[in-house]
Amino acid sequence: MTGSVNPLPFNAVIGIVGGGQLGRMSAMAAARLGYRAHIFAPDANTPASQVAAATTCGAFEDLAALRAFGEAVDVVTFEFENVDAAGLDLLASLKPVHPSPLILRISQDRVAEKGFLNGAGAPTGAWMPVDGRDELEHAVALLGLPAVLKTTRMGYDGRGQAILRSPGDLDTAWERLSPKPLILESFVDFACEISVIVARGQDGAVVAFDAVENRHKHHILDLTLAPAQVVPEIVERAQAIAMELAGAIGLVGLLAVEMFVDRDGRVLVNEMAPRPHNSGHWTIEACAASQFEMHVRAVAGLPLPPATRHADAVMKNLVGPDDLALWPEIMATPGLIAHHYGKREARAGRKMGHVTRLFPKGGLPGAFGVSAALGVLARERQGGSAP
Ligand code: AMP
Repeated sequence: MTGSVNPLPFNAVIGIVGGGQLGRMSAMAAARLGYRAHIFAPDANTPASQVAAATTCGAFEDLAALRAFGEAVDVVTFEFENVDAAGLDLLASLKPVHPSPLILRISQDRVAEKGFLNGAGAPTGAWMPVDGRDELEHAVALLGLPAVLKTTRMGYDGRGQAILRSPGDLDTAWERLSPKPLILESFVDFACEISVIVARGQDGAVVAFDAVENRHKHHILDLTLAPAQVVPEIVERAQAIAMELAGAIGLVGLLAVEMFVDRDGRVLVNEMAPRPHNSGHWTIEACAASQFEMHVRAVAGLPLPPATRHADAVMKNLVGPDDLALWPEIMATPGLIAHHYGKREARAGRKMGHVTRLFPKGGLPGAFGVSAALGVLARERQGGSAP
């Protein structure tokens, strides 16, 4: 269904909840289209605040600060989705909020999310909510081992989860993760992990970026290969799933859908995030309109251009002090497009920036070629997980 929408006028203020690198790159895209970004974040020197027109400082539960923010902006969006229900309701009472609070609530909770995914016809691995020690025993009996026990809320980059390989692992995992509400998922023996980012405008038009392949190191995204090195049917299925979900949930904005491709070629959804996503950073250089521009356009009521990819790309995250130490060499290496997020302290596991390298379409080097193509970064990768 499409209809006419009045776009935000130039100089309108797009409120972005969250001050991280996703907010930073969204704010930069907003500025290019003639909008001002106003950030809501716990402090005034966040990566996003550094490039935005204004910041309201406050904790994500601080209703008075959220009210001041909501009153100062024309529309509200997010780069961080864990704002609690009261905060979301308050913002929605003040200004249009895209994506809607309903979508945020679903994606904040793995049980609600899996329920939504299956209800919308998206395939997932088997899962069960776990509310007590006996239920964990019961869920393991039904789903079998190995399995992954996760907190239902606030988990990211492998935090708040434990792999159960044998019955002896249950006690340790339970002690570490309870009393938080938990979910047990069958362990998916995946061939690769892929993701698709879709954008849906206020007129209901949906566009999907190409499926990409994501490789993790210590549970943190390390490399994204665009396009995913999978057969075209898998790409099409993954895009169709993501587009279907965006429509089913009434999205306005972006939805990143992370999926497993299992050894039988089945595509199973792992999780979704209604915001820009680390696995979409390659779109800044390899697409006419990046994920961040799509985000801003959707939120501002502008039309969405096709999500066409004009080059192949490899994106490498720069995580922690070790990766950041390569910066001088990265700067001296032609062909590496570098992004620094302006974070002062390079703590271990912290995403400090990323590097993208473009290739002619169809020219993405496979396997070890990816590593070699990253030039100076290849050296660092020798100690990491195999590409
Ligand atoms: P998540 O926080 O759900 O994105 O999980 C982080 C990473 O853990 C994923 O990218 C996978 O590599 C791995 N993982 C999560 N859930 C499963 C699962 N059910 N089976 C196998 N691997 C998983």
